[in-house]
Amino acid sequence: MPPKGTNDLAPRGCEVCHQRDRLLRCTGCLTVYYCSRDHQVSDRPAHKNACVDVKKARAELERIEQKLRTETASGPFGPDIFISQAGHFWSIDETRPYLEARCRLAETIFRRFGFDPGRVDGVQAALDHFMEVSRLARSETMGIRCLIPAFLIRLGRDQEAYDFLKAWAISRGRPDANGGGDMPHPEIKGANVLEPLHNGWTEAGQIDLHDAVVMTVIKFRVLSDLQRMQNAARGLADTFPREITDLIRRELVGSAVVTRPEVLSLDTAELGRLIDSIKFQIKRLFNAVHVRNSHLWEMLLVTLTTGGVRDTDPAETSIPGTRGEAFMTISQSLEAWVEVPNAPHQIKGVIRAMLTDGEVLDRMRAAMMGRR
Ligand SMILES: [Zn+2]
Ligand SMILES: [Zn+2]
Repeated sequence: MPPKGTNDLAPRGCEVCHQRDRLLRCTGCLTVYYCSRDHQVSDRPAHKNACVDVKKARAELERIEQKLRTETASGPFGPDIFISQAGHFWSIDETRPYLEARCRLAETIFRRFGFDPGRVDGVQAALDHFMEVSRLARSETMGIRCLIPAFLIRLGRDQEAYDFLKAWAISRGRPDANGGGDMPHPEIKGANVLEPLHNGWTEAGQIDLHDAVVMTVIKFRVLSDLQRMQNAARGLADTFPREITDLIRRELVGSAVVTRPEVLSLDTAELGRLIDSIKFQIKRLFNAVHVRNSHLWEMLLVTLTTGGVRDTDPAETSIPGTRGEAFMTISQSLEAWVEVPNAPHQIKGVIRAMLTDGEVLDRMRAAMMGRR
């Protein structure tokens, strides 16, 4: 089964006529598809530059991999460095060029086929490379692990994004976290997205800004799933038997909610209480992020409504609380925000509800007015 499309990504189909049966894959980029030789030939002029770009990046990765394997085969790392040193690639000088080449290939695929128009196969292929980099280099400092949850969400794989963030939150809290950057993470699968928030996303002193922001995306998406279920329940309750409404609900929700059968059969009152608790979690995340970096929400809103923020100092990106850090965090999570239905409206709504003293709203207003 080819991956399904999402809100914003085109499903796998012919580049020319979008037909979805019996497709042939382009052998250059390995990322786009055609229904026939005719359509491939007619698309070649438009496709050629992107295709060659990706093909070159892959050839370079293969060259570096071959060189690495040849040079290390008889050394201290054993016959297969990809097995013996998995997890430690960032700490070994010989393996860093491989990681960098693999990231370049992922970025090239994403730049060429991940947006404008976004294709599900472009995002999927870039994500696969990022996941492999993250597996080989658990302590990498290139920020790849920050991109992974956003890409998963872009593909509608919220459950995996939640599991990934939870594993990181648990690893960070371990006593050996600082000295053991290459340590394997706990294997987490099917964690409950409705459970209380981990301290690593909300508590001052423990919060990871990036993870808290992406967690907000996940909770927004859960909230809209629950609200859709609630609306369907209201509309259908008297018309169909319970088994049918449960089936309909399954079709309305994303990957993180569909795995929770106990939620699919809640009545409207219970659903209402669950919706309130998720709204409360979102407010807590907003507050925690705001305390950690007071620029972030305002900058995100401006980015989503006007398409970008430019006046940040690149040197600031690693300094907590700065505009530069907010900018970096937003860049890494932007893919995920694309998949939040009506994100600017939702963000404004939470900010309004969060306010007691008017301080944040005044800042927002000033920011929005200044840029309109
Ligand atoms: Zn076609
Ligand atoms: Zn191609």
